[in-house]
Amino acid sequence: GATSLTFDVQPAAEPTQATVRAEKLANPGFGRVFTDHMAMVSYNQAEGWHGARVAARASFPLDPATAVLHYAQEIFEGLKAYKRDDGGVNLFRPDANARRFRNSAERMAMAPLPETVFIEAIEQLVRIDQDWIPGGEGSLYLRPFMIANEVFLGVKPSAAYIFAVIASPVGSYFKGGPAPISIWVSENYTRAAVGGTGAVKCGGNYAASLRAQAEAIDRGCDQVVFLDAIERRYVEELGGMNVFFVFDDGSLSTPPLGTILPGITRDSIITLARDSGTPVREEPYTIDQWRGDAASGKLREAFACGTAAVISPIGKVCSAHGDFTINGGVAGSVAMGFRKKLVDIQYGRATDPHRWTRKV
Ligand code: PMP
Repeated sequence: GATSLTFDVQPAAEPTQATVRAEKLANPGFGRVFTDHMAMVSYNQAEGWHGARVAARASFPLDPATAVLHYAQEIFEGLKAYKRDDGGVNLFRPDANARRFRNSAERMAMAPLPETVFIEAIEQLVRIDQDWIPGGEGSLYLRPFMIANEVFLGVKPSAAYIFAVIASPVGSYFKGGPAPISIWVSENYTRAAVGGTGAVKCGGNYAASLRAQAEAIDRGCDQVVFLDAIERRYVEELGGMNVFFVFDDGSLSTPPLGTILPGITRDSIITLARDSGTPVREEPYTIDQWRGDAASGKLREAFACGTAAVISPIGKVCSAHGDFTINGGVAGSVAMGFRKKLVDIQYGRATDPHRWTRKV
């Protein structure tokens, strides 16, 4: 198929007025405010990927028998555009999101989107909606996604797909910014099995995590942490973030890839840590080890990481078997150090030795 497509750009006839936009940008929260446009590309077997366009954000007409509505053949990504001090715009590792999106498509038996088209769609949308990128600590959250669009009730891979990108200006993900979070250990629910879809970003994974997240909220925690589905003791990841442990010898560890989402923030932290000579182990770690190491002082810090919140220190771990605190419940310097390093690269305030940022 085509690895490059020309996008037909049709600016919105009635874009949001500047004063209304400024009001929305003043307090965007997360995921409820949207920009004026979206990017779309269609797929069918006869034409392959075609019809690349940027147009006014609008509803999709979907036949009630559209495959995605029944069998959840859907994948998505999440990345951000950052406003630099010089007024320019950075994307952070969009090539990594494009690659993960392809992997997700393959796992879900969907048509793989060429990585160049994924990146071009994002750049086109960021360009036309650049006035929607908040300054300061804010950013423009980009949500590429793909749905199975064939009108057919048979259980099989769809013959048609829609790829689209929408954008949402965001402030800080967690209320109160990078303050330590509390997490609930899910013993009743698991997230991913060996051979399942845990390593890809399909909507169904998130639907399956909601009950566990609701349990976390019921227990007064911010987020849920999942254990492995076989022995039910190895720490895997949070509902939407990977996890790191910081030890008293200065080393880090993080759960190995396999049934977890290969986070781009996770990969970036591993790289930055090794750059500075900090050993990082990708190895299994049980909830009992976590509890014991927190008690003995061997564990200094734990933190969660992902695109939305960058890094969130974990202050407290709660479970049916009792609670424990980490680092006295306060943000640790290692977590906050990585946070600053990453954010400075993302906003173009620091050198970028791995050329992770891409100017739009
Ligand atoms: N795990 C899960 C389940 C997620 O949804 C996310 C967010 N994409 C992450 C980890 C973190 O991934 P990334 O650093 O690429 O945002």
